[in-house]
Amino acid sequence: MSNPEIYSLNSRKVADATDEWLVKRGVTKLAIAELVHFLQKDYFPDLTPEECIVHVDAVLSKREVQNAVLTGIQLDILAEEGKLMAPLQDMIKYDEGLYGCDEILALSIVNVYGSIGFTNFGYIDKLKPGILVRLNDKSDGQIHTFLDDIVGAIAASAASRIAHRKQAEREGVTQPPLD
Ligand SMILES: [Mg+2]
Repeated sequence: MSNPEIYSLNSRKVADATDEWLVKRGVTKLAIAELVHFLQKDYFPDLTPEECIVHVDAVLSKREVQNAVLTGIQLDILAEEGKLMAPLQDMIKYDEGLYGCDEILALSIVNVYGSIGFTNFGYIDKLKPGILVRLNDKSDGQIHTFLDDIVGAIAASAASRIAHRKQAEREGVTQPPLD
């Protein structure tokens, strides 16, 4: 008989839940890949959004990233349902300017992929292209205070991964950096 007190981590479940919740919140991998393409198209004109999906998948395969996605989406949903404590409830609901924990959580994703990731994250956060327009639209009743930064961070990380890989290819390095 198994002891209910013993917690056993199931990595597959965490990965699957991450994929499911992104889709439930209206974020497809192609939508993230389009952001990656937006970030990298000037450097690699032959790159397609479809090609970028591979890199989005690689970023999403990391536990740090999955943890951030699940935590952020959970907080967004609790805010939608009005279940957070005051004053945090309203700070997240109204995406208050001085509340920066959403960006900080997203940085835990970017952290994995080095300084190009940081630069891209700041850039995409400022311009808010593609799906980030919808995630920032406050008029549809949904709250994406955390998810918009997380999606931007995944795209920025995938863009950084591409930049490092392409450079490694140019140099003929067989073992690419940043898996
Ligand atoms: Mg935000």
